[in-house]
Amino acid sequence: MPGLAVVLVGEDPASQVYVRSKGKQTVEVGMHSVEHKLDVQTSEANLLAVIDQLNDASIHGILVQSPPPSQIDEEEIVRTIDPAKDVDGFHPENVAKLALEDSSGFVPCTPAGCMRLLEASGVETSGADAVVVGRSMIVGKPMALLLMARGSDATVTVAHSRTKDLAAVCRRADIIVAAVGIPEFIKKDFVKQGATIIDVGINRVEDPVAKRGYRLCGDVDYNDVFEKTGAITPVPGGVGPMTIAMLMKNTIKAARAL
Ligand code: NAD
Repeated sequence: MPGLAVVLVGEDPASQVYVRSKGKQTVEVGMHSVEHKLDVQTSEANLLAVIDQLNDASIHGILVQSPPPSQIDEEEIVRTIDPAKDVDGFHPENVAKLALEDSSGFVPCTPAGCMRLLEASGVETSGADAVVVGRSMIVGKPMALLLMARGSDATVTVAHSRTKDLAAVCRRADIIVAAVGIPEFIKKDFVKQGATIIDVGINRVEDPVAKRGYRLCGDVDYNDVFEKTGAITPVPGGVGPMTIAMLMKNTIKAARAL
């Protein structure tokens, strides 16, 4: 049976929610789930030792929930996970395979989920102008690589915090992928009539009316842009669940390859 180990260091509330839901989904699809919860004070050496044990164990996939506490270097985590078990697709070997369009690697789950959404919704990517807002290694960069890869064939612009006149850049786009980390940042003046919008953002914003005192929103102002869009993903409920679906897919791929 394919198995996934999820490691959580500390008690960040959002990370706890993600880890719980990943574990639940793993079991729901009939796979084996293991959770390792480590104290917030855990040293980098201790965490790396846990990863080493998992590299040698019979588990197929390993995921360390980010962000780790400040005493731990995220790059060290990524480099320590066996690339054959790196279901997040963050190890340099898997990043290189993505750039090389070598399908034997693992593609990061969030951008893979965005591509699957575009495909399942019948959005034409070939020759389309796509603007990815954000250049992180987790979302923006792999998203740009996937959109420009053979078979997808979009013309891709990657925008970031230094981009000049971002609204004008985004207005050219047939497809906007927002991965900025700023609540409701993309407004209707960024959007060409009929554009497709993928909202990757997950932000907690204070809301005194909400039961928990906060609500979740994306990096796109959904209500503001809605009328102009041809298609748009909601937050919550859009990219988030697709990310977990791709994690399941990567775990199955890891299990098949071992
Ligand atoms: P990040 O902070 O690593 O990167 C943000 C990027 O946005 C940076 O490249 C930065 O240059 C760019 N940026 C910042 N300010 C900008 C501005 N004013 N104009 C243009 N670009 C700007 O974030 P990340 O890890 O890529 O995550 C982005 C968002 O996606 C966050 O809201 C995060 O919570 C969410 N996220 C969701 C999922 C999911 O499963 N749905 C997974 C990962 C991240």
